[in-house]
Amino acid sequence: MTADPFRLPDTVVPTHYDLAIAPDLAASRFEGTAGITVTVREPVEEVVLNAAELEIHTALARDASGRELVGAVSLDGSHERLTVRFPSALAAGEAVLTLTYSGAINDQLHGFYRSTFVDADGHEQVIATTQFEPADARRAFPCWDEPAYKATFAISLLVPAGLCGLSNGAAVEERAVDGGRWVRFERTMKMSTYLVAFIVGPLVVTDPVDVDGVPLRVACVAGRERLSAFALEVGAHALRYLADYFDIPYPAGKLDLVALPDFAFGAMENLGCVTFRETALLVDRDHASRPELERVADVVSHEIAHMWFGDLVTMRWWNGIWLNEAFATFMEVGAVNDFRPEWDRWTSFSTERGVAMVTDALAATRPVEYEVVSPADADGMFDVLTYQKGGAVLRMLETYLGADRFRAGIRLYLDRHRYANTETTDLWDAIEEATGEPVRSIMDSWIFQGGYPMLSVEPVDGGVTVTQQRFRYQSHPTDVSARWQAPLLYRPLRAPDAPDAPEAAGATRTLLSEAVTRVAWDDAPIVVNAGGWGFFRTRYAPDLLHRLLADLPALGPVERYNLVSDTWAMALAALTPLADFVDLVGLLGAERDPSVWDLALDAVGVLYRVVPDDSRPALSAWLRDLAGPVFAELGWQPRPGEDERTAQLRGSLLTTLGTLGDDRGIQKTARTLHDAALAGRSAPAPDLLASLVSIVAWTGTEADYELFWERIRAAATPQEEVRYLFRLAAFPDPALVLRTMDATNSDIRTQNGAFVIGAALANRVAGRQAWRWLVEHWDQTLARIPVNSHGRLLDGIVRLTDPDSVQEIPAFLAAHPIPSATKQVAQLLERQRINAAFAARERGPLAERFPAGPPES
Ligand SMILES: [Zn+2]
Repeated sequence: MTADPFRLPDTVVPTHYDLAIAPDLAASRFEGTAGITVTVREPVEEVVLNAAELEIHTALARDASGRELVGAVSLDGSHERLTVRFPSALAAGEAVLTLTYSGAINDQLHGFYRSTFVDADGHEQVIATTQFEPADARRAFPCWDEPAYKATFAISLLVPAGLCGLSNGAAVEERAVDGGRWVRFERTMKMSTYLVAFIVGPLVVTDPVDVDGVPLRVACVAGRERLSAFALEVGAHALRYLADYFDIPYPAGKLDLVALPDFAFGAMENLGCVTFRETALLVDRDHASRPELERVADVVSHEIAHMWFGDLVTMRWWNGIWLNEAFATFMEVGAVNDFRPEWDRWTSFSTERGVAMVTDALAATRPVEYEVVSPADADGMFDVLTYQKGGAVLRMLETYLGADRFRAGIRLYLDRHRYANTETTDLWDAIEEATGEPVRSIMDSWIFQGGYPMLSVEPVDGGVTVTQQRFRYQSHPTDVSARWQAPLLYRPLRAPDAPDAPEAAGATRTLLSEAVTRVAWDDAPIVVNAGGWGFFRTRYAPDLLHRLLADLPALGPVERYNLVSDTWAMALAALTPLADFVDLVGLLGAERDPSVWDLALDAVGVLYRVVPDDSRPALSAWLRDLAGPVFAELGWQPRPGEDERTAQLRGSLLTTLGTLGDDRGIQKTARTLHDAALAGRSAPAPDLLASLVSIVAWTGTEADYELFWERIRAAATPQEEVRYLFRLAAFPDPALVLRTMDATNSDIRTQNGAFVIGAALANRVAGRQAWRWLVEHWDQTLARIPVNSHGRLLDGIVRLTDPDSVQEIPAFLAAHPIPSATKQVAQLLERQRINAAFAARERGPLAERFPAGPPES
């Protein structure tokens, strides 16, 4: 036995599972038989494995001596363990344990669960499907449900007549039985239980695309297969790109990408049978906006990267989930950047990294890797620090080492550990071996310690000093002693040999480990964090900063992004006057990168809430003066040959002018264009359409609200559905927003509920009422929303900075804790406090900057 109730004893370990699953979709029940080949390492009378919410009917073992023993079973519900006790000890050697059992097909979006949809004839249809990560395979079959217990799986499914059955392997045999057929699937490679999948339901499967010998298909609800072409294209690209990058062939025999109407996560990397929520897979290539296409490209590439990184080589325990996800995020961006170079995916990744830097500057942040005792502890790991910070620090390391050397380390790691399990340090050791650089000590300082540094740059005789100190919005005594091994690149603003190609200039590398580092430098303007991939903020002395501001075009897009991001963060932290940030935004008239604009406009949205009501018109007018000329230059309609990022910038500027900018002319035209689009009289460019919907919601009436619901019900694509659905939270009339809140407990799918509620709380006018609604409907809302998105429910509270909310919300959440999101709740409450302090401090100065004027005519 083991002392840790969450870790199984290793006296008996599995090598192979034969699973036969017979679902009854109408009754929401299933029967199962698990024949598990195990190695008995020492004679034992007791076998302990995982099971939860299953009724075990019989347990039988045939041991190495050939004896058959009948076992008695007992279930420990709190630790989700099944103990099978035999009348005498099983002999050491190979044994087969056979268990028969039954269970419910639940509606909790984990384990073996039901997803429903209404078909073209108006009938409700049911799909039975699985979601096992991190620890829910035990709800579908008794198993050693820890990632280190890898085994092979041979799965058979009873598929009712007329339905489709899918699993990890290809179907290799079908046997007709009364009312349907047994389908047997090809045996998998050796892998962890959380990667098993089986699905039965009325799905259609596209013809396979042959990707260098790998059959690639999409499965979805009938009628939606017309939305599969883009996923197949990006999937084929990712398979080829990743096999080449890793220098290892795709590790399974086939690949199915399966879209499900109800899905709690974005997608799940089951080997050979990846499951997705519909918006992340199905898209109309010709009528979707660039961000909507990019989302599909991202998620498909991410999941396919997991086939190697996660499935072939797997973390030993759940503390390693972060590396799994961080690496897949890193590879996703690289693969999509290769798929559509014109999307400039690495630059747009700045936005995701920026979100991680906000959370990671909080006192309530966490180290990327932390100790995980129970599998439930790992629930908190599926967050922005795992995916976005983790991906960003890998990008920092790659940039510092060079892409080829970094890749050589990755190849060494995957080759060395295939079909096995690893610790995080195994990756650093492999990269260290391949490059000769101190990778483990560098990365330990980023992974086992929360937060990140601010680098202050000061001129000194013959150079500059770079001082590192932890960046936080509210300082803390321990900040002074925190240190990182910061891989730093720096460069002259304009290289003497290439003055017009700023980023082509070679940067100098150095590793900062002391509190203060002196860098020799001549009089040229210096760019610290050259290229922009260091996970830190830069605070220049005023003279150094002014020289950069005087020549912004000489900075690359990620560097300009960082300049805006760092200035905004320092204004929030009261390290820089807010006026400096407003002045910097005022310089963006020549900016054409949508990521830089989106960041600045998002911050202006915060100012819009903070200014007194009578100053708001002056702020809107300032915004119109700034963004209006850029939008006018781009025009309403795409120009021939225009790149897709320009289309995105047009959409961002238009949305802002029609909402925060309160541009009446734009609001009127947007409404006319939206009406024409709905009446089928015109087909606006997809990026434009998303903006039109936002503007109509911002000025929306009850009639618009009804229209939005009609569009949701009649949506031709998953993207159209969510485009209207999420805007239901943005109407200015609190009564309509409350109707939206009510719908999260009825008409809105549980997979979307948390996001809609989170957005309603952020509604400037109706956020307070939305909060009161949530308080009244707390228990039923939490029961309905999948556990993994409980943290998202509260996203909008960071914007509720009025005195009542600042008092009430923390008190309520202290009395009503959310166990699966303890960390996220603490982070959101801290951000609420920071924003409230900012609002109190800056309301007066903003009123002076944007004085109340006569009402507009
Ligand atoms: Zn992932």
